Amino acid sequence: MSELPAMLDLWQESLHWQPNQSQLALFERLYQAILEGNQKQNLTRITESREFWEKHLWDSLLGIMPFLRADLALPELTITDFWTQKPNQKLKIVDIGTGAGFPGMPIAIANSDWSLTMVDSTRKKVTFIENAIAQLNLNNAKALVSRAESLGRDQFHREQYDLALIRAVGQPNVCAEYVLPLVRVGGFAVLYRGLWAEADTQSLAVAAKQLGSKIAHISSTSTPLSLSTRNCIYLYKHSPLSERYPRAIGIPKQQPLS
Ligand code: SAH
Repeated sequence: MSELPAMLDLWQESLHWQPNQSQLALFERLYQAILEGNQKQNLTRITESREFWEKHLWDSLLGIMPFLRADLALPELTITDFWTQKPNQKLKIVDIGTGAGFPGMPIAIANSDWSLTMVDSTRKKVTFIENAIAQLNLNNAKALVSRAESLGRDQFHREQYDLALIRAVGQPNVCAEYVLPLVRVGGFAVLYRGLWAEADTQSLAVAAKQLGSKIAHISSTSTPLSLSTRNCIYLYKHSPLSERYPRAIGIPKQQPLS
């Protein structure tokens, strides 16, 4: 059976953060749960241990580093307001289109004070995550079957989260309409992207504005093993959401905001 490499030096060099012994053990158990689950259903094509470490663990944590490490606080901001509303640092985070639990699961492992709600429209994926949460004994994580567009209309979720995350779900303006309705005023959405161009920034800025938000920061990095490009887009929610959003199921994707 393959085991995950610990990569402590690489964590430290690239993100100035390291998992402790119990987090390392949980990463390993998550990896084993994914390998096992993959035999029953198609969860991910990334199963080789070093690739799993980079694309699923390292990449998941990259996007939330400005919140995990106070010294990395996003420059522009207002991040002070963010924390003054959260003095105990117990962030409420939602991960939309989480698939097999990414980026949500590694983040739940990285900070047990944060609560993670992982959402996917596919029942089978959510069942897998529920089992993994139980196996790993994570009491700060839960999974939910829903579409982003419905959750954004649900009073228990609309504008309730400090952070909303989304990776590999669709084009940026569609992702913005999925996640920003869930973010509280004063909170952030993080879009996990690969390549990013100036034209993407221009287009996303227009969508963000309609959703009471603005692009606060874009951080470009290369991944530590395969040196691929990663861009994390931080959107700051400065105003309450218009009643118009999110639009009905399917509409954000069919007619992306522009
Ligand atoms: N975030 C994961 C999975 C990406 S695959 C990762 O990075 O590995 C995209 C996932 O988004 C699929 O599991 C799909 O079921 C889900 N999805 C797509 N549109 C959605 C929507 N509108 N609401 C909720 N989930 C959605």
